[in-house]
Amino acid sequence: MGILEVKGVNKRFGGLQALGDVNLSVAENTVHAIIGPNGAGKSTLLNCLVGKLIPDTGSVMFDGQSVLGRAPYEINQMGISRVFQTPEIFGDLTVMENMMIPCFAKRDGAFELNAMPSVGSQKDIIERAESVLEDMNMADKRHMHSASLSRGDKRRLEIGMCLSQEPRLLLLDEPTAGMARADTNNTIDLLKQIKDERDITIAIIEHDMHVVFSLAERITVLAQGTPLVEDTPENIKGHPKVREAYLGE
Ligand code: ADP
Ligand code: MG
Repeated sequence: MGILEVKGVNKRFGGLQALGDVNLSVAENTVHAIIGPNGAGKSTLLNCLVGKLIPDTGSVMFDGQSVLGRAPYEINQMGISRVFQTPEIFGDLTVMENMMIPCFAKRDGAFELNAMPSVGSQKDIIERAESVLEDMNMADKRHMHSASLSRGDKRRLEIGMCLSQEPRLLLLDEPTAGMARADTNNTIDLLKQIKDERDITIAIIEHDMHVVFSLAERITVLAQGTPLVEDTPENIKGHPKVREAYLGE
């Protein structure tokens, strides 16, 4: 049994079958990549895991409990944190304030932004946010206005915001999209470090094969909404169906 078990998930948008009978099992404490061409249904699948979309049929179990029918914040409280395809940070707030928001959100489900100063005395949350910032090599930027961070640091902050929630499952949707090579390599190193230092499972959607083959222990190839093959990176590299459907050979 994986920490995440997806069985027979279907999702239609009008006449379009975005997901067709998807089965996926992600083993605990592994990095599992989901790859596939544009429009394959990768983001749709991820949205079904976090409650942003509800599958038409099928089941999604996290740590033995169904996530279906739960609100996104409840799924987040179960231990799933998610990094979006485009960075979602509060540009007007400092790095430290951004780090604290997900901690409050996870603890309280919802909160008033203007209540931040009064909860500033919450020592445990501040300490957790600070310790993650240190792990991420961003402690010196804690008072910076987040909008002024580089693109790579914004992505780093976003990953840090997820980690501050101490998730058991971290979901990343194309974390290196639009990044320069140096930032991509920094992100690979950061994710390797996270994986080595924490009890965490990572499911990553990624286009860049260099990232996929640097990190993944298992790979699922999605094509036209259906898993084509699931295997180790070594076997995926040489798989004729994958070369044909995904690598365009
Ligand atoms: P990927 O992330 O693999 O590129 P998506 O999951 O974003 O693919 O999209 C899968 C298919 O579903 C695409 O054809 C896309 O246009 C369609 N799609 C995604 N979201 C919606 C939506 N909210 N409404 C209608 N069609 C959608
Ligand atoms: Mg996508």
